[in-house]
Amino acid sequence: MMENGSNLLEIRDLSVEYRTRRGVARGVDSVFLNLPENKTLGLAGESGCGKSTLGRAIMRLVPYPGEIINGDILFHVKEDIITKHTRVDSGLVNIMELDEPQMRALRGKEIAYIFQDPMTSLNPMITIGTHFIEIMKAHDPLIEEEEAIMTAKGILQSLGISPERVSDYPHQFSGGMRQRVMIGLGLALKPKLLIADEPTTSLDVIVEAQILEEIAALKEEYNLTMILITHNLGVLAQTADNIAIMYTSRVMELSSAIDLFEEPLHPYAQALLQSVPDVTQPEKQLQWIPGAPPDLVNPIPGCMYNPRCPHAMEICRTDVPPLVKVQDGRLVACHLYPGE
Ligand code: SF4
Repeated sequence: MMENGSNLLEIRDLSVEYRTRRGVARGVDSVFLNLPENKTLGLAGESGCGKSTLGRAIMRLVPYPGEIINGDILFHVKEDIITKHTRVDSGLVNIMELDEPQMRALRGKEIAYIFQDPMTSLNPMITIGTHFIEIMKAHDPLIEEEEAIMTAKGILQSLGISPERVSDYPHQFSGGMRQRVMIGLGLALKPKLLIADEPTTSLDVIVEAQILEEIAALKEEYNLTMILITHNLGVLAQTADNIAIMYTSRVMELSSAIDLFEEPLHPYAQALLQSVPDVTQPEKQLQWIPGAPPDLVNPIPGCMYNPRCPHAMEICRTDVPPLVKVQDGRLVACHLYPGE
């Protein structure tokens, strides 16, 4: 069953376009999503399906030449945010209506984003402690450096890093440690929503498992709501409450993790799960999905999955299936499911 409860974030009809030399490509296409408080939403799908673009759109950080062209992003700000330059009152805000100083105030303080590659996100010229000081001072110029360092030490410790390493530089850390530092920096301002974009992709499976455990513990400790973006469904099996499966910039299925792994409904979700190795079923034959996703600059009519779908019908080649509510509150975009 999908959880009801108060939503921290509500995304309504969000679309992002990339204006490339070849033409306009939809990076996110008419996405609706609700994110209940204190839950983890997994965003999954093949490379280029739009999951990272969606994550960045929530922060209004879609990289050029991308642009949000439609939609609302409603977010419940928990406490008034007051900086030297602006303020954002607590309550429900539409992120699309905030100006840039307000967005800067919101980023980090209420919503933090952990990017895929820690080495390009960390400044090699300054120590980890200075990274913490800079982030904290950007939101509160009056904060004492000593206090920022104390916070940094506490966070590093809860991530299994010796507090003394605040004085070290990024290159002195291993890949797993750098990723932990990135997670720690994301938590420095105690955000309500943490968006982690492929946080364990470049790590070996043992370090990945450790970091996922630490993320789960931090989620409890910091009372976080999370969006975890990954192509790895195995990662989501361990961490997500609900999972949105994306394909060609659209959400194809939104189900609780339990329902999705027990009985995926959308043919693409079924195919994705068939391609995941299962250590409890070593004899299971892994499937691959034939064909490739269509070109987003020249989208095909109807369901974008139809050339690869074994269940495709005539209507699938002409009509885009809407995302509709089916059993147990699950949402599916497929003509096989007419909706409740
Ligand atoms: Fe397959 Fe048609 Fe469903 Fe698309 S709408 S997933 S083509 S059955």
